[in-house]
Amino acid sequence: MYIFETIVIGAGASGLMAAIHASKYGASTLVLEKNNKAGKKIFISGKGKGNVCNATTPNDFIAHVLRNPHFLHSAYANFGANETMAFFEEQGVPLVIERGKRVFPESMKAYDLTDALVHKAKDNGVSFHFDEGVRFVDREEDIFMVKTGYRAYACRNLIIATGGQSYPSTGSTGDGYRFARGLGHFIKSTYPGLAGLRISEQVPQELRDFTLKNVELIYEEGKKKKSEFGDITFRDGFVDGPIALTVSSILAGQDMSDRTMYLDLKPALTLDTLTERISRDIAKDMRMRLGDLLVGLIPSEFLLFFANAFSLDLYRKIDAYTKEERRALASALKRVPLHVIGVNPFERAIITVGGVDVKNINSSTMESKLVPNLYFAGEVMDVDALTGGFNMQIALSTGALAGDSIAEKTKI
Ligand SMILES: Cc1cc2nc3c(=O)[nH]c(=O)nc-3n(C[C@H](O)[C@H](O)[C@H](O)COP(=O)(O)OP(=O)(O)OC[C@H]3O[C@@H](n4cnc5c(N)ncnc54)[C@H](O)[C@@H]3O)c2cc1C
Repeated sequence: MYIFETIVIGAGASGLMAAIHASKYGASTLVLEKNNKAGKKIFISGKGKGNVCNATTPNDFIAHVLRNPHFLHSAYANFGANETMAFFEEQGVPLVIERGKRVFPESMKAYDLTDALVHKAKDNGVSFHFDEGVRFVDREEDIFMVKTGYRAYACRNLIIATGGQSYPSTGSTGDGYRFARGLGHFIKSTYPGLAGLRISEQVPQELRDFTLKNVELIYEEGKKKKSEFGDITFRDGFVDGPIALTVSSILAGQDMSDRTMYLDLKPALTLDTLTERISRDIAKDMRMRLGDLLVGLIPSEFLLFFANAFSLDLYRKIDAYTKEERRALASALKRVPLHVIGVNPFERAIITVGGVDVKNINSSTMESKLVPNLYFAGEVMDVDALTGGFNMQIALSTGALAGDSIAEKTKI
């Protein structure tokens, strides 16, 4: 039997930061990781560039959290964007702040983040056992028993940092829910978040992987009409990119099998202004065909999709367009239907919505309210945010707070 003061299950962003903080006064700390290395998900984050946090204010951070934002006040106050940036800079990872205050390693290599976390943990004396997936967790009196396929361990403090269910190939397969449930915790139903929206429309070859910029995605949430402004990317059978990911997260858990959303391709123009613009364009060259006119208004990659949506003949001469038809064309540009038939599965979801109910967790410490000395960190909990570095920040902030809470108790 191996005995440690603290065991952390999972070597993702949250588990690594939790181990660093739990061990800061020298308490024996072990990280058990089922993969053969740490931070598989960090490696693919931000398209491999590692958008580690967002250099924003506490209020703005909270505003970007979709589920249970207020649960994160203490964790962020204890270890927010400033502390995150200082940590990585001190570890020799210079950072840069890009568009939307997104923070990346200057190298644009996400694995620099993992290396820094692992090095710091090892400097603090943290032990790592890789290829050791935890199968079973139990509590006997005030000691946790942790069993992997190979060994049995005992510890006084246990941190569950197993992540959610998204991108299960990275090791996040929802094991933490089983451990938490076994110890009496309630698990909120889980859904893919920040996943693309599957659509029934055929996406023409030239539109695949093309991003429409500065458009508005209009959708309904309950009876409310809502919209997101930004970029959307067309793929084979689905759309993603910031606004589609955001909408998929906002609507997570709702029936998405048959919904019509709309794209406003010209959100900065009113219907009247756009109609006038079309009339002016037609007046400039009466010999134009509809396709020629549209090329001046929308990217050519989107022409066919747009024409199919409204059964338009791109070769039609536009000199015969009536006033009503010009207005109808303007209206079409502001309301292109997208027939949503579902959300991409966990295999393509950036985040898991749902998880360990935060009502069971003390937000000032990350300790379970039901089981003393049991802590949670990261995506395994029912907290999730929009894109922009906020989810990694949640992992790092909650990991740091769980670790600090243990360190204060174990300080000699
Ligand atoms: C493609 C992609 C891109 C992303 N990009 C960004 C981004 O740019 N910015 C951002 O803020 N967020 C991003 N995210 C989200 C962010 O990466 C995660 O929210 C965050 O890393 C979660 O960290 P975590 O430690 O809670 O969980 P995870 O990173 O999932 O780590 C959990 C760890 O626990 C291990 N584990 C699980 N079960 C067991 C077990 N039984 N025994 C032992 N080990 C176990 C897993 O193998 C894994 O290593 C991205 C996510 C994806 C999928």
